[in-house]
Amino acid sequence: VKQLTFLSPRELEWREVAEPRLGGETEALVIPIAASNCDLDTWIVRGSTPFTGPFAIGHEFVAKVVEIGAGVADVNVGDVVIVPWKVFCGECEQCRRGCTTGCTSFGAMSMYGLPLGEAWGSGLSDLVRVPFADRMLVTVPSGVSPEVLASASDNIPDGWRCVGPQLRARPGSEVLVLGGGGRSAALYAVGIAVALGARRVDYVDHDADRLRIAEDYGANPIETREPPAALGPYPITVNHSTTPAGLQCALRSTETGGTCTQAGILFEDAPVPLFDMYRAALTVRTGPCETRTFLPDVLDLIVSGRFDPTPVTSEIVSWADAPDAYARLKRKTVVVRD
Ligand SMILES: [Zn+2]
Ligand SMILES: [Zn+2]
Repeated sequence: VKQLTFLSPRELEWREVAEPRLGGETEALVIPIAASNCDLDTWIVRGSTPFTGPFAIGHEFVAKVVEIGAGVADVNVGDVVIVPWKVFCGECEQCRRGCTTGCTSFGAMSMYGLPLGEAWGSGLSDLVRVPFADRMLVTVPSGVSPEVLASASDNIPDGWRCVGPQLRARPGSEVLVLGGGGRSAALYAVGIAVALGARRVDYVDHDADRLRIAEDYGANPIETREPPAALGPYPITVNHSTTPAGLQCALRSTETGGTCTQAGILFEDAPVPLFDMYRAALTVRTGPCETRTFLPDVLDLIVSGRFDPTPVTSEIVSWADAPDAYARLKRKTVVVRD
């Protein structure tokens, strides 16, 4: 089977790999039918991360189930499903409390499409093995196209986790989102915050396209290349920039008792204003997105028509064109199997 492989900056190719087979009765084999780039992939293909090729790339995908083990009960052959980026068992203590990232049945960061833990292949391949099908897979709701949900494996629920639980705790709050690094996830956070009834959503970025999308979602665009020392303050802040200045702005812009989600990935240490954070009694969250935990809320928002992720999509291409399309990633490229 063919698998999209990152070789070096802006150089990708389809590589032939061994066909995955069921490894146990809880497993399923799926054929990806719509896939998209995570924001991190955009930086990988530009050579702006520590990741060096070759490795299988791609961890956002919707797939069709083609084979299931004897112990799979909730998933059937023919189902169209969202496959979370993270491989997990759903049964260990960590998984049961919603921390699939900490699943103890697999090595740390075992996932699709990135060489961070045990390798599970790419969502841009002809066949993918899912170890705990009942626990991991989520059926695509009827009436929603797979390409709309290609990014539901990671970046769309990433948008949710930055603002959803926070707005539930403090309904109607004003929200600040700094974009630019997590190019799509920041915009999903904006759209979801508006959909959930935030009184005001301010979006900071330097890119005219992204500022326009944020404005179309109902946010107030703030155009700047270098974030100021502080804005607001806001009860809810989100840093999806990938600069120390963005991180510091988000932290200093969070009002006393507020929450800041540090979602944009910085690969190096960055100074943080610890005493300001102490005085403001901040709650700061960081880390990857718990996709499976948040997907029910995300799908509810999309199915009800309150949130539409499609304005964030920059390009839809055919499966064969994935290597070329990935070499020029901008925001959200969706690859659809013909
Ligand atoms: Zn990702
Ligand atoms: Zn687990």
